[in-house]
Amino acid sequence: MITTDVENYPGFPSAVTGPELMERFKEQAERFGTVIHLENVLKVDLTKRPFTLEDESGRTVKTRTVIIATGASAKWLKVPGEAEYTNRGVSACATCDGAFFKGEEVLVVGGGDTAMEEATYLSKIVKKVSILHRRDTFRASKIMQHRVLQNPKISVVWDVTVEEVLGDGKKITGARVRNCRTGEETIISAGGLFVAIGHQPNAKLFEDFVETTPTGYIKTVPGSTRTSLDGVFACGDVQDAIFRQAVTAAGTGCMAAIEAERFLVEHGE
Ligand code: NAP
Repeated sequence: MITTDVENYPGFPSAVTGPELMERFKEQAERFGTVIHLENVLKVDLTKRPFTLEDESGRTVKTRTVIIATGASAKWLKVPGEAEYTNRGVSACATCDGAFFKGEEVLVVGGGDTAMEEATYLSKIVKKVSILHRRDTFRASKIMQHRVLQNPKISVVWDVTVEEVLGDGKKITGARVRNCRTGEETIISAGGLFVAIGHQPNAKLFEDFVETTPTGYIKTVPGSTRTSLDGVFACGDVQDAIFRQAVTAAGTGCMAAIEAERFLVEHGE
């Protein structure tokens, strides 16, 4: 919902913006009679069928199946300038936005596998990548660290936190960083800053009812969208810690719809 151009969605050879793609999804679903309520669901009770959902308008819905497709939210640094320059140089998705930084120097913040993956991906497009990490060791897997540390286009700035994202009012120009050991502050110039400090699946509402992984993603049966609870299915990023793409989310969304329909048929409903 917050990305600019989606470059890898099939059928859109000249890309499509995230919001436009959403609008098209909505129109297409409505053509088949789907009724869409644009409300936040505040409470669910999945202890017995039919399940009960309550939304912010006070409406209560009884339903025989639920498909959870609440996605995941990127974690942000929450420093000055970050929100202001989101989509104007600040991004949380190299696959989505990397192409806009061709030939530029960019920063990647984080020390986990996501940061390694983002930096490696970006190194194929941009002029130079600097990883900013708040400690002196990465938590990423050895193999991914190795790939980064061997890459001549990637350098690492250890022991620093980003204090502020800097810009010229139109786009970012760099970041003010602070050395955690010495307290010294420096400015690093860059045309892009990729925040890669993890994602938070939006699964909180459901975690008392369905099994989740240690990192909070909803567990699904491999090759299926079935959760640990009969009649409840999960698709997209709320159950996918690996791919996290619009196209893979749409694919598992289709699987969930087919499985929910079969569930209703099997239960004579
Ligand atoms: P992660 O493992 O939780 O790493 C987050 C990184 O961001 C850590 O290095 C952490 O620093 C840093 N960080 C967190 N909050 C920060 C903040 N406020 N300011 C600065 N730095 C901050 O998250 P992840 O890299 O997204 O990985 C999540 C899971 O997905 C992992 O299990 C990972 O192995 C998996 N994954 C796998 C692949 C793959 O195999 N291809 C790719 C991506 C992700 P500290 O280290 O100091 O805590």
